[in-house]
Amino acid sequence: METVIQGSTLETLRAGLRGTAHAPGEEGYEEASRAWNLAAYQQPALVVVAKGAADMMAAVRFAREGGLGVGVMATGHGVGAACDGGVLINTSNMRGVRVDPVARTARVEAGALWTDLIHESQVHGLAGLLGSTSYVGIVGYTMGGGFGWLGRKYGFNAASMTEADLVTADGELVRVSAEGHPELFWGLGGGGGNFGIVTSLKFDLYPIGTLYGGNLIYPVEKAKEVLDAYARWSAELPDEMSTGVAFLNVPPLPALPEPLRGKSVITLRGCYCGESPGDGEELVRPMREELGEPIMDTFGMVPYAAMDSISMDPVDPMGARQHSEMLSDLSPEAIEALVDVAGAGSGSPLIMLEIRQLGGALERTADRLSTMGKGGSKFIMNGVGPAFTPEMAEGVVAYLARVTEATRPFQTGDTYVNFMELGGASAERVKAAYAPEDLERLVALKDRYDPQNVFRFNRNIAPSKAER
Ligand SMILES: Cc1cc2nc3c(=O)[nH]c(=O)nc-3n(C[C@H](O)[C@H](O)[C@H](O)COP(=O)(O)OP(=O)(O)OC[C@H]3O[C@@H](n4cnc5c(N)ncnc54)[C@H](O)[C@@H]3O)c2cc1C
Repeated sequence: METVIQGSTLETLRAGLRGTAHAPGEEGYEEASRAWNLAAYQQPALVVVAKGAADMMAAVRFAREGGLGVGVMATGHGVGAACDGGVLINTSNMRGVRVDPVARTARVEAGALWTDLIHESQVHGLAGLLGSTSYVGIVGYTMGGGFGWLGRKYGFNAASMTEADLVTADGELVRVSAEGHPELFWGLGGGGGNFGIVTSLKFDLYPIGTLYGGNLIYPVEKAKEVLDAYARWSAELPDEMSTGVAFLNVPPLPALPEPLRGKSVITLRGCYCGESPGDGEELVRPMREELGEPIMDTFGMVPYAAMDSISMDPVDPMGARQHSEMLSDLSPEAIEALVDVAGAGSGSPLIMLEIRQLGGALERTADRLSTMGKGGSKFIMNGVGPAFTPEMAEGVVAYLARVTEATRPFQTGDTYVNFMELGGASAERVKAAYAPEDLERLVALKDRYDPQNVFRFNRNIAPSKAER
């Protein structure tokens, strides 16, 4: 979609910004539109690199006056729908974080990453509920729920949210909490950024310093044995232990440990966050004994600040395609299907096919919004493949479709907001991320706060009058 913005209106906007605005062809446009996921190419009509709430308000008003939609990007880890032809607000210059050690809370700006907060919170022995990598934006992560290796014990970060400052579709700034705008507060904690642009977010922190975590890594030929043992073991674990298994096709890069370089492996991974990290070692012992000598055993004491070492996610921008489904169980039939599509001799082009355990506090969302559908899924499966060229992307997308087909009998049909892939956030998939009664409330909120669907470049909850 081609949208041309008049020079004079653009100059008026620019004069009122502390940040910068870039139209197509202008210097800075490509850089400010580029996402971490290089496969998510966006062509906004204008990109505004915001320096604060006032810039965001100006950008939203400008978009509305021009009849344009608004998208927002902190890192570009989670572009659900490319902001083509809209006004993209880039928040990457807003990375301020402030910790209140007495109240045990953090307030972070729109573009802050978990890695920014870790430094400030750990000095007080406090920790936020980060995901598998600390290079994801905190606000975007929380808008979709947000869970990681502390999830089964502490739940989604959205459930720890206590307050947000939000620029609404009218370009107004409102403070949203359980006391002020309670219904909007409920919807914001998982509503995927559908109701406005968060300028800053406040949430609870927890006293966490050292954990017990790591990986037991085996040759992929052992996948069935590992999955069988994992299915039995994980069913009995306390909520303090969050776990997963992943098929990995490790790239042959010199930076990676020699025993793994260029190998296809299966890893059993986890993290224990109970009071005494040593108890985690006891919990892992049966797996060590049953599965025998691994290629690598990295389980041990892990400082909270080093938790990225458990998932080993890539840090630098990369082109990737991904797809996720929720599973009802890891039955022998499900395991057979997984080994068939990702095990030895499968020819899988995926870098990773991971199955993470759910349950615990991720299920007990109480009065908070769940972003994982109706509930009842025991595991979430997530496949990721490299997509540096359109041809690679095509091959990976086709393979992900094959994985989806092979595991269909074991899927619950629910989806998870944060794992909805680029271009894959269809009305049906978004609907499947919420319980029906929650979706009704979310649509009512959208009707009230964004009836024109200004905020549409996301995992979109359309207003009831919109064409679906
Ligand atoms: C390598 C990798 C690992 C991941 N691991 C996990 C994990 O362990 N657990 C998990 O839950 N998720 C995980 N995710 C998913 C991730 O949390 C989502 O993609 C999230 O949306 C990323 O947020 P971002 O701001 O970094 O990305 P962006 O692409 O910048 O933003 C994504 C979306 O978030 C919303 N958003 C961002 N900023 C704002 C704002 N200021 N106001 C309103 N809405 C906003 C918008 O809808 C935007 O389109 C992972 C993703 C990747 C690529």
